[in-house]
Amino acid sequence: MGNPFKKNLRSGLFYAAVVASICFLMVFLIWNKYVKSLEENEQEQLQMQGDFIAQKIGRSIHTDIQSLENLKGRIEETNGEYFDYWEYDAQNILSQNPAYIFIEWIDSTMIIRKIEPKEGNEAALNLDISNIEYRREEWLRHAADSSTNVTPWSEMTQGGKAFLVDAPVYYDGRFQGTITAGLDFTQHFDRMLMGMEDYAVEIHDEEGSLFYSHNQPAESSLKEGQVFTHQYDVDPGDAQVWTLHLMPSSGAVSPRYNLEGLVWLVLGVLISLLLGVLTYYFLRLSQETKRIGEFNEKLVATNQALDIEREKEQKASRSKTDFISTMSHEIRTPLNAIIGLIYLLRESDLAAKEADLLDRMEFSSKNLLSLVNDILEVDKIESGKTVFKEEVFLPARELEKVVKVFRPEFERKGLFFNMEADGNDNYKVVGDPGKFNQIVTNLVRNAYKFTPSGGVVIRLKTSVEGKSARVNLEVSDSGIGIPEEKVKGIFDRFSQVDSGVGRKYEGTGLGLSITRQILDLMNGEISVESREGEGSTFKVHMQYPLAEPETAKETESDANHRIEFPGASVLIAEDNAMNVFILKQMLDTMEIKSTSVEDGKAAVECLKKEQFDLVLMDIHMPEVDGFTATRQIRKMNINTPVVALSANVTREAIEQANSVGMQDYVTKPFNRERLIEVFNKFL
Ligand code: ADP
Repeated sequence: MGNPFKKNLRSGLFYAAVVASICFLMVFLIWNKYVKSLEENEQEQLQMQGDFIAQKIGRSIHTDIQSLENLKGRIEETNGEYFDYWEYDAQNILSQNPAYIFIEWIDSTMIIRKIEPKEGNEAALNLDISNIEYRREEWLRHAADSSTNVTPWSEMTQGGKAFLVDAPVYYDGRFQGTITAGLDFTQHFDRMLMGMEDYAVEIHDEEGSLFYSHNQPAESSLKEGQVFTHQYDVDPGDAQVWTLHLMPSSGAVSPRYNLEGLVWLVLGVLISLLLGVLTYYFLRLSQETKRIGEFNEKLVATNQALDIEREKEQKASRSKTDFISTMSHEIRTPLNAIIGLIYLLRESDLAAKEADLLDRMEFSSKNLLSLVNDILEVDKIESGKTVFKEEVFLPARELEKVVKVFRPEFERKGLFFNMEADGNDNYKVVGDPGKFNQIVTNLVRNAYKFTPSGGVVIRLKTSVEGKSARVNLEVSDSGIGIPEEKVKGIFDRFSQVDSGVGRKYEGTGLGLSITRQILDLMNGEISVESREGEGSTFKVHMQYPLAEPETAKETESDANHRIEFPGASVLIAEDNAMNVFILKQMLDTMEIKSTSVEDGKAAVECLKKEQFDLVLMDIHMPEVDGFTATRQIRKMNINTPVVALSANVTREAIEQANSVGMQDYVTKPFNRERLIEVFNKFL
């Protein structure tokens, strides 16, 4: 199979050559026609001029000979009387007619008896022409029949060349002699042809002697048809014929080669070439357009196939995501119950051994919970569902909370755990405190996990740049450190330094990758400096807009951080009995009076009858769900604060809760701290 591009190129060139050739041919034919018409015109002109000149010259020859015949006539008519005056007549003819050189009288004995003008012609006087070979016979023949004789172009005895014209004269009943004239038409014809520069004229006698020429003929370029010929029958008796040739002179401008014609020819050739080139490019363009069209069609088909594939993939991904999130939620609910129960057990009096078992149980449960949370987080990031809240918070305060939660664990392990903040730690920023906590928690949990002795220090530095705060966080530990060659990969998903079968540390290898992805979404940065055996320092940079001091309203009230709320009453609407049990137990420890119902409908009914300080409303309930129930409550003008309890953490769910009139949103599994936060806000 040939290269289609070369094939197209060749066919393009072929068609271009055909078009150019056809144009060349047309130009040539037009040019040829044009030249032919010029030639025809030239010939017509030549013919016209020739006819005109030939007639003029013929008439003049005739008139010249006629003057001599008139003289002869006068002598014959007067029966010789006029002969005495012929010299007078001859002089008249000579003076009036430039063709006449001399006129003489040759008597019947062939002797030249008289000659006019005498001067210069003395040598001819008394000449016996019977001795001149070419004269005798001819002269006698014409004398016999009385017809005018014209000799060829001949040398004269007295010098010079001339035609001799003999007019035989008869009177007294016999031949007396001839009146003979020497004629040279040069002067006469010159005068006639004066000013005619484009043509040359040549006249030859019957012997081929050129006796008259006007201008030089353009011999080199003369063709047949470019020469006009005319013959004069000057002496029919002797079959004497003179031939006139008229042709373009060497000085004439030949119209065939005029500039205008040549310009058109060159222009025609150039236009042909141009049309060839244009045809070539036009064909190339249309081929290209066709090719692009075909390509586009293929592209559209591929896109459609891709769309179908993408849709399939999205469907598969959606079902995968749905499966993961459903499973994770389902796992989290009982897990939450286990952690809640552990908390409740811890509150009761326990023996040291049982307390230790409980600690281990709590540790494993929390590990499992963080694993499930990590999986959910990865899923959220991958499906682009990560939601960033915009709340006013104090980074230093959030950090303190994390420290507070972790400190007991560090102490149990015999590690120190310090927090150092610069003086700038009272800037309130706008952002998602939950995500901030998540980042810090991940780093602190790792530091805790990989530090067998010594401890961990968290440093917080805040600097203000215009309207934003740059929060720099460092988590330094004196742990096992990371080998140099592994440092680069630890932010990748599932990467662990110690990943063999007998590994010492638990974990999924997801924490740092999640941390970096969250920071990427926040335009933040994370880096690590580490030495194996000496410890590691993780550095995080985050940028937050500064909260306006006047309008800033912190998520959590600075003061009044209570953990007991005596006299407060809370309605729990939740269908999961275990959750209800744990919640009630927790509320008991906070001295809160609680009532529970199993669905939304019952919650509405209950609120109609009784007054509560707060409602904890599950979203997914049988009969009437949490959203519908809240809407009904608000319709009834009951203004009790309603806080959603849900495992659904999507932005849509949170926005919907807000729109139906819920005041806050607690995601399951809920811990004691979050509940205390909510109660501090509403009770
Ligand atoms: P996980 O801790 O669940 O294994 P991470 O993504 O949080 O996953 O961490 C990845 C790996 O990076 C860890 O397995 C560990 O090898 C290394 N690492 C993280 N933090 C530290 C630390 N502070 N000191 C030593 N190694 C660490």
